[in-house]
Amino acid sequence: MKSTVSRVALLFAAVAATVLGSIPAASAAPTPDQPTAVQAAPAPDGVRFVPGKGQAVPPKITGWDVPTARQYYLTASCNQWAGEIRQGATAWNQLSEGGGTPVSCQTTYITDCGATGAIIGCNYNAGDRITLVPTATGQVALLAAHEFGHDWYGHSGDGCASWASPADVMRTTICG
Ligand SMILES: [Zn+2]
Repeated sequence: MKSTVSRVALLFAAVAATVLGSIPAASAAPTPDQPTAVQAAPAPDGVRFVPGKGQAVPPKITGWDVPTARQYYLTASCNQWAGEIRQGATAWNQLSEGGGTPVSCQTTYITDCGATGAIIGCNYNAGDRITLVPTATGQVALLAAHEFGHDWYGHSGDGCASWASPADVMRTTICG
């Protein structure tokens, strides 16, 4: 356990209790990156958010393949963040808008996600529904990509999430 980002902690988590498969290496996306493959995630929960620690990485989203096709739709509560959320969704190639998982947004912390702390995102049961707290982070697209990622994956490990690879998206901490 590193103590690099131990300070504050707004948590977000996935209630998805089951596991969900290993995170694949980046697929045929036109990126030359070779994401470090991370093994099947441990129990998905307790994602931390640490404000101000991370760089504002511009989403370099080219899309990664996922095990199964899924859909989502935005509820009106997410209207003002729709662009960023859709941007986050494009992280996953077989995720499309139009049905499936409803995504709701709120400005207060989530209290029913099964984790303690100030929770800013939750994917209930790997796709039943998703709740985001976009006002809690400057990286709404990354937050959305992370929660969508819980449709298939658990957390890949500790550390700041980033766009570098599927495994990085699924890290436990949103830094910034
Ligand atoms: Zn998570």
